[in-house]
Parts: sequence; structure tokens; C-alpha cells
Amino acid sequence: MSGTKGKMQIKTIGVVGAGQMGNGIAQVAALSGLAVIMSDINEGLVQRGLRTIIKSLDKGIEKGKLNPEKKDAALGRIQTTVNLGDMSAAEVVIEAATEKEALKFQIFRELDVICRPTAILATNTSSIPIGRIAALTQRPDKVIGMHFMNPAPVMQLVEVIRALTTSYETFEVIRDLCVKFGKTPAEASDYPGFLINRILIPMINEAVYCLYQGVGTRENIDLVMQLGANHPMGPLALADLIGLDTCLAIMETVFNGFGDSKYRPCPLLRRYVEAGWLGRKTGRGFYEYN
Ligand code: NAD
Repeated sequence: MSGTKGKMQIKTIGVVGAGQMGNGIAQVAALSGLAVIMSDINEGLVQRGLRTIIKSLDKGIEKGKLNPEKKDAALGRIQTTVNLGDMSAAEVVIEAATEKEALKFQIFRELDVICRPTAILATNTSSIPIGRIAALTQRPDKVIGMHFMNPAPVMQLVEVIRALTTSYETFEVIRDLCVKFGKTPAEASDYPGFLINRILIPMINEAVYCLYQGVGTRENIDLVMQLGANHPMGPLALADLIGLDTCLAIMETVFNGFGDSKYRPCPLLRRYVEAGWLGRKTGRGFYEYN
């Protein structure tokens, strides 16, 4: 760590979950030169994650951002497993499993036993309080939020969330790791929605209110934010990309977490979710997709 003991040497990163975020994080870590152990619950899911990484690296070669040697070297650094016990080799484990509280609690209880006492346990959760996860372990000072954006290989930001119990040394190690990954860390405190979702999702919710109240059409709501605020994408189109169910879940987290009516989810957002209009992934959200 820091001080007289010197900085913690990180050689191996564990990534729990090989889904959308997990395989992206594994790719980023491997490209930065670190060994990676990526796990999921079965071989099929692990292999699917690995295929996504290969496809993404190939795209990098096509775009001239990568060469075949770097691709092979990165792939050579990734080990896959279906056994969480293999995380014992990692100095830092980044958990990116499904966003279910009970599941994450179980994973952290297990990691706490499996991993060496000095290991840092990070979570990529978008909404679960880091402090609640930290309190389940014997190392609450070494539990931290490491919130990558989607897609992790492309997006520059990593929100680094300190729970009340997270030590400054742990924060420093993770902040430096973000930089090694080629990312830009932004520190946030452990309050509902952290920073990005606390600001972004209520903005989307407000856009849905504008549609609900007939203040503007979907096209004009998106247009004003694109042309008037220089957003690359309008809030309703962005909601469709994120998934309306995810937007609603985050809005509810912020609403319940603060108990403040200013965060109440728009009834129209709820109706869309109830109808199964979840955005791009279901072919229909605020817009229609083929
Ligand atoms: P996903 O469904 O694509 O992937 C989750 C993976 O975790 C699945 O492959 C699942 O099989 C695996 N998993 C479940 N239980 C496991 C266990 N016990 N051990 C190992 N693997 C297990 O989900 P995702 O979009 O990658 O989200 C993962 C995490 O990242 C969530 O906490 C989510 O909130 C967060 N996140 C998601 C986004 C996003 O835009 N998708 C952005 C930032 C953060």
C-alpha cells in the first residue's frame, strides 16, 4: 500500500462476471499489461465473454488502433474460470456480476474468504450502496466502488466510490489502477446514484415528464438537448440505449435512497417498462427499432 510499506504491486486482476461489463473490464485490464482471471457461472458464459473480447480487439485492429501482436498478447494474459476460488491469485478483484443485491452479497462473502487479506475487492455496481457490501466483509477498508461506463473499452470515465469505511490507501491504489487502464477516475461518495446516475437519470426522467405532459414531441425533446446543450444523443434516445427498465431501477434507487419527491419516477416511464417497451433491446422504447 502506501507509506513505509510502499505501494501495493498489482500484477493480477480478477473479474467476476463475463457479461457486458465484465468482459469489457477484462479487456481493458489485459490491454494495460496485467494478468486477468475472468469468471462466470458456467463455461458457455465465460466463452461468450471471451468471444466478445476477441471481436472487440479485432475491431480495434480494423480501426488501426491495435496490432495483431498486441491482441495476441492481451488474449494471452486472460485466464478464464468457472471457479471463484481462482480469484485467490488476484491483488484486486472487480466484481461485475448481475445487479442483484443478494447475489453480490454472496459473492463478496465468498471473495472475502477466498482472497488474500491484502486484496482489494471492488464492485462495478450501478446502484447498490458500497458501504452495505463492505460491511459484510472482514475488510471494509478494502472494499470500493469502481463504476465503469458501458462499453468499458471505449468510455473514458471510471467513477471511484468510497464507502465510509474505505481507506484512503485503497482509494489511491484504485485511482492509480484506473490511470494504468488508460481511464480517467472521478471520486464520488457513497450516496444513491453516486454522481453520474444521480445527474444523468433524473435528467432522462425529466425528459420523460416533458413527453408525458405534452411539452414537446420525442423528436423535439431530443433535439433541444442535442443542439441546445451539445449532447451527442438526446435523453429519450439515450434512455432507449440504456434500457428503460435500468433507468427506472436507478431512478427508484435514488428516489428511495433520499426519500425526496423530486426524484419520483415519471408514471410514463413506469408504463413503458410495464408494457415491456424497454428500448433498443426489445425493439421498442420511446422510438421503434428493427
Ligand atoms: P450482464 O447480465 O451482461 O452480465 C452479468 C454476468 O454476471 C452474467 O454473465 C452472469 O452469468 C454473471 N454472474 C452471475 N452470477 C455470477 C457469479 N456468482 N459469479 C460469476 N458471474 C456471475 O450484466 P452487465 O450489464 O455486465 O452488468 C454487470 C454489473 O455492471 C452490474 O452490477 C451493473 O449494474 C453494472 N453496470 C452495468 C452497466 C451497463 O450499462 N450495462 C454500466 C455500468 C455498470
